[in-house]
Amino acid sequence: MSYRLSDLINLDLSACTDKIIAEYVWIGGSGMDLRSKARTLPGPVSDPSKLPKWNYDGSSTNQAPGDNSEVILYPQAIYKDPFRRGNNILVMCDSYTPQGDPLPTNKRYNAAKVFSRSDVVAEEPWFGIEQEYTLLQKDVKWPLGWPIGGFPPPQGPYYCGTGADKAFGRDIVDAHYKACLYAGINISGTNGEVMPGQWEFQVGPSVGISAGDQVWMARYILERITEMAGVIVTFDPKPVSGDWNGAGAHTNYSTKSMRNEGGYEVIKKAIEKLEKRHLEHIAAYGEGNERRLTGKHETADIKKFKWGVANRGASVRVGRDTEREKKGYFEDRRPSSNMDPYVVTSMIVETTIVWKP
Ligand code: ADP
Ligand code: MN
Ligand code: MN
Ligand code: MN
Repeated sequence: MSYRLSDLINLDLSACTDKIIAEYVWIGGSGMDLRSKARTLPGPVSDPSKLPKWNYDGSSTNQAPGDNSEVILYPQAIYKDPFRRGNNILVMCDSYTPQGDPLPTNKRYNAAKVFSRSDVVAEEPWFGIEQEYTLLQKDVKWPLGWPIGGFPPPQGPYYCGTGADKAFGRDIVDAHYKACLYAGINISGTNGEVMPGQWEFQVGPSVGISAGDQVWMARYILERITEMAGVIVTFDPKPVSGDWNGAGAHTNYSTKSMRNEGGYEVIKKAIEKLEKRHLEHIAAYGEGNERRLTGKHETADIKKFKWGVANRGASVRVGRDTEREKKGYFEDRRPSSNMDPYVVTSMIVETTIVWKP
């Protein structure tokens, strides 16, 4: 009998030991690179506060100088590990100096402070984040399914499309969908996008800081699955210039008052506040977003705030259901695919709940 690599990867550790493997995941110096490393723990853990802090070499992630390079990881959220399975876990962490100060790249720290305010907790903010992304051929960094150095037929048949000439990478998308459900991420759906090779998954509705944690862990799982498939995932907001849709991260949002009777008035007031802070939000909604928010390809012009019911060319869209029921939620269509969900969710809450103009 001969063994294969997959036999060993699928070994069930719990048959012979209580020990588990914890993969600590964190955000590196670019603000988009996901890093991780593994350690053995004596037994199963389900509460992140029971996990040990850990350290890493910040000089190798562009987060610390070489002569003082130690960065400390604080475990914040635990997910089941869909790769190692059993009692093994993935751990979402954030980064601190040895003195206990959050690193400049630690956007979770401030977000967690906003989400722990009593006025914010009372409003139970829900988020549904639509994460769009593009799959690229590894060696040429050109979209999956596209002829190398050339272009596929124009957009039209690809959105939610089926067939070998329309949907490229579905196995990756579906593997990711199931892996996220296994991990305990509140993934609510997936779809093929307008540009061929581009896909979307949605996380939510998720409450408060957990939305950011879940989107980051879902991104990590996608990086791991594309790694296995030999494909690159990019979160660039406009991976191909010209008549090809960009990639966004529409952020659907509601508070308790918006979901209750009289909610439509609360929604309109929140949108007015968002309009007043349009430029501040745009500045925090992702790098390179100006290449995407052109006013074409289902976007609003980056310079002008515009909202509307059922309007996919608006900055903020209110759904028909919400208009009819006079309560519900709205969609901020401005964030780009490479936005930081900690920044975007906490800023929306800050502007709509905390800020009193
Ligand atoms: P679109 O029609 O813009 O493509 P999607 O169906 O892709 O929208 O995504 C909508 C997201 O909004 C989903 O993740 C969904 O769970 C979430 N959502 C639904 N209701 C609410 C709500 N009341 N508050 C916040 N998010 C919500
Ligand atoms: Mn969508
Ligand atoms: Mn979409
Ligand atoms: Mn949307």
